[in-house]
Formats: sequence, C-alpha cells, structure tokens
Amino acid sequence: MNCPICNRPLKSKKSIERGIGPVCETKIAKLKDKENENQISFENELSEE
Ligand SMILES: [Zn+2]
Repeated sequence: MNCPICNRPLKSKKSIERGIGPVCETKIAKLKDKENENQISFENELSEE
C-alpha cells in the first residue's frame, strides 16, 4: 500500500492502518485546520451580509 499523497510505500503498521504516511497526515491535518478557518470566516462573511 502506498501513501495517496506522496505515493511512497507505507512502512509502519500505523501508517498502513491510517492509509497515509505520518508526514502527509500532519500536512493534511494542517490543511484541514486552514480549511476550517476559511469556512468559519466564509460563513461569518455570509451571515454579515
Ligand atoms: Zn505520504
């Protein structure tokens, strides 16, 4: 099984169970945080208008 983000083979059992490498998991977690922040600000903008 390979990491869907960087396409490298997943070596550790944890990575295989999660289906993603630890580095990319951290990256995605940060991206999701940003997305959530954007969504919140976007929703606030909508409600203000
Ligand atoms: Zn990866």
